[in-house]
Amino acid sequence: MFKSKTIRSGGNAKTIKGDKLGNYETAIMYLAPASQSLMGNVCPMAGQAGCELGCLSKAGRAGMFSSIVEARIAKTQRYFKSRETFMADLVKDIAAFVRYCAKKQVKAAVRLNGTSDIQWEVAHPCSRDGVTYTSIFAAFPEVQFYDYTKIYKRAYRSLPSNYSLTLSYSEANPAYADAITKTARETGANVAVVYRSKAHRDSLTGFYWRAPQFDRVVIDGDETDMRFTDPKGVIVGLYAKGPAKRDTSGFVVG
Ligand code: SF4
Repeated sequence: MFKSKTIRSGGNAKTIKGDKLGNYETAIMYLAPASQSLMGNVCPMAGQAGCELGCLSKAGRAGMFSSIVEARIAKTQRYFKSRETFMADLVKDIAAFVRYCAKKQVKAAVRLNGTSDIQWEVAHPCSRDGVTYTSIFAAFPEVQFYDYTKIYKRAYRSLPSNYSLTLSYSEANPAYADAITKTARETGANVAVVYRSKAHRDSLTGFYWRAPQFDRVVIDGDETDMRFTDPKGVIVGLYAKGPAKRDTSGFVVG
């Protein structure tokens, strides 16, 4: 297990089956989602996508311990108060995670938006070893970064080669659902869909979903979290966990 001020890993290196990528360990950053820090919004599409109530931020340990929620709020407030100091902490922690992974002989993967949707590729410069970089991705070319996003315009950008983005679907708002569908069609980006239950997701796995809007095959997105290893042009099928199980907004489908 790796633990630092900004990111943490569960300690389980996941084996990527059937390819030459080897083992990865993922460290994730958890912030207080949407406007819960009361200092700014780290999920600008949450209102439109209707995902805040069913947000994964309350799944797992954070749903049980208020101290975890408070720590995430404090971390998010640090992000808004001093971006420069926050980025310096993040660089220090990712560098430590890279060393930790090297010692364990696994490859380092990082998900910065565990419970947020920040556009890290824009206006987030940082310094590493005295050199200034335009983004954290440029500062750590040896790390594979990946995230889910509801900000569909990000899929049209030319993203760094070590950053993989998967669009996140919701039917809470038909305009948002249409925009995601259109973006997926135009960019080829993968789309994650949260289904009501594992049984529902499993029943769709391997089949085309929602033709003619999507007309894409559903894969099991819970087998591994390593979204950068997914085939292109698929629906990444997840099933609802934590408060998402009770979601009625349309974020959870089925
Ligand atoms: S589901 Fe994602 S975008 Fe929505 S509130 Fe949670 S972290 Fe933010």
